[in-house]
Amino acid sequence: MILFFGTRTGSPKTRQLQGLSCPFCSQKGSLSATLLPHFVHLFWIPVYRLRPLRWVACDHCKKQYEGRELTPEMLEALEKVAD
Ligand SMILES: [Zn+2]
Repeated sequence: MILFFGTRTGSPKTRQLQGLSCPFCSQKGSLSATLLPHFVHLFWIPVYRLRPLRWVACDHCKKQYEGRELTPEMLEALEKVAD
């Protein structure tokens, strides 16, 4: 028997960050936070949720922030995207 096992991502949730400015290009209101659900599946049925993938992107300079590049303000905004 073959086990179909792996990880998949769900549909992303994006929210525009109105009050924040991009640390790279200083453009205000150009950042958007994205949260992507990530889970382990068995026969394409989600069995275990992993930590969601998350990042912040700037529409103006196209820079993406993730992991340790995220500022406390970005992290706070990312928490709200999940609501
Ligand atoms: Zn920027």
